[in-house]
Amino acid sequence: MDILDRIGETISQVGNAAGQKAKDVSEFAKLTTEMRTLQKKQQDLYLELGKKYFEEHMDSKEEAVEALKEIAADVEHLKDEIAALKGGDACPNCGAVVPKGSKFCNACGTKMSIFEEEETTEEE
Ligand SMILES: [Zn+2]
Repeated sequence: MDILDRIGETISQVGNAAGQKAKDVSEFAKLTTEMRTLQKKQQDLYLELGKKYFEEHMDSKEEAVEALKEIAADVEHLKDEIAALKGGDACPNCGAVVPKGSKFCNACGTKMSIFEEEETTEEE
């Protein structure tokens, strides 16, 4: 075999290997993306299922249900603290901070729970 033929053959072998490698890389990227997309959907469905289960088993004494209820209460408490720091009240529905004394949440329209101080600010 001529030296030039051999060099040519080597070059084409290297070229094929590089092509295969590029193909592998793009195939890898494609499969990884596909897998991540499915995993995201899986997570979303687990979440949806979990919320549904929680709502249907609120009264059970299951450990996870109890823990979730405690966390929900803590979250509410923190919302109130944050709202107080900002000088307002936390909406019981969406958690938005609304100015103290507001009758309705200005973010979602939920009626604000009536707090002790029902001061009438109607002066003339
Ligand atoms: Zn709200």
